[in-house]
Amino acid sequence: MAEPLFRRLALLGIGLIGSSVARIARERGDIAGEVVANARTQATRDRVRELGITDRIEADPAAAVAGADCVMLCAPVGAFAALAEAIAPHLAPGAILTDVGSTKQSVIRDVGPLVPASVHFVPAHPLAGTEYSGPDAGFTTLFRDRWCLLTPPPGTDREAVGRIADLWRRCGASVEEMEPAHHDRVLAIVSHLPHLIAFTICGTADDLEGESRRQVLQFAATGFRDFTRIAASDPVMWRDVFLNNREALLEMLARFTEDAQAMARAVRWGDGAYIEDKILRGRRIRRSLIELKQA
Ligand code: NAP
Repeated sequence: MAEPLFRRLALLGIGLIGSSVARIARERGDIAGEVVANARTQATRDRVRELGITDRIEADPAAAVAGADCVMLCAPVGAFAALAEAIAPHLAPGAILTDVGSTKQSVIRDVGPLVPASVHFVPAHPLAGTEYSGPDAGFTTLFRDRWCLLTPPPGTDREAVGRIADLWRRCGASVEEMEPAHHDRVLAIVSHLPHLIAFTICGTADDLEGESRRQVLQFAATGFRDFTRIAASDPVMWRDVFLNNREALLEMLARFTEDAQAMARAVRWGDGAYIEDKILRGRRIRRSLIELKQA
């Protein structure tokens, strides 16, 4: 077996993403010699011990990062600043600090200034997830054939970037580097806006009264069901994503609202050609996704 990439990997937060990384590290053996995790609640710590997916689980983030040569922030992005503040004095010189957060400019803004000069900071975002959360939700194939985007600030040590890229390749992902602002705009349209629409449409349906509301559930299989899967996602994680990618999300929402208004106008005026053209574009996008094996 290849030499492990890291001596000790510390995961701060161990829900869907953190526990998937822990499971892969355990299964492969070539990612880290030892995996330590931090979870703030006793229930999660107990469950992680029962699952046996880490070598150690700590209540104190500072204790979890001591002696680690790779530290990965796997909590909701709104918690990153406090976590970084708590661990900064305890990070080992030469260690790599990375993360899995869904927003990247906010992470660089909140965490970057707290990183000691002797530590390499390599922000990352694996584009893989499900609507489930917590340590039971993770699984070893989550990142397989998915992308992981790295957004290292200019001047970041190339070897450190290479090692984080290697970690994600060993998790099964393809890796690409991207400028953080560009990352946030792309993710706003491919992930954050679709979640916003799903949460909203479920709210709209839930506001219906009596009989209609009951029938929404009864006949949900006609399209609504797909929105409810996305809308079942973790509220804290998504609250933090929306608040930390505010500008890009609002920009994409404004564009979407304009396009939705144009569609409404076509419906009102019976413009069948316009409606058909939009639907055809949707089908083409779906076909391209299937060809790119991202469906
Ligand atoms: P999750 O399953 O809800 O797990 C979150 C973990 O963070 C739990 O261990 C939780 O601890 C801990 N945590 C929550 N609030 C915290 C706080 N204030 N301080 C310290 N720890 C805290 O979440 P996830 O889906 O793995 O997401 C983790 C990160 O990955 C987020 O930054 C998210 O943006 C990113 N991400 C998510 C997806 C996705 O689809 N889910 C995809 C890519 C990236 P307790 O259990 O003890 O509360």
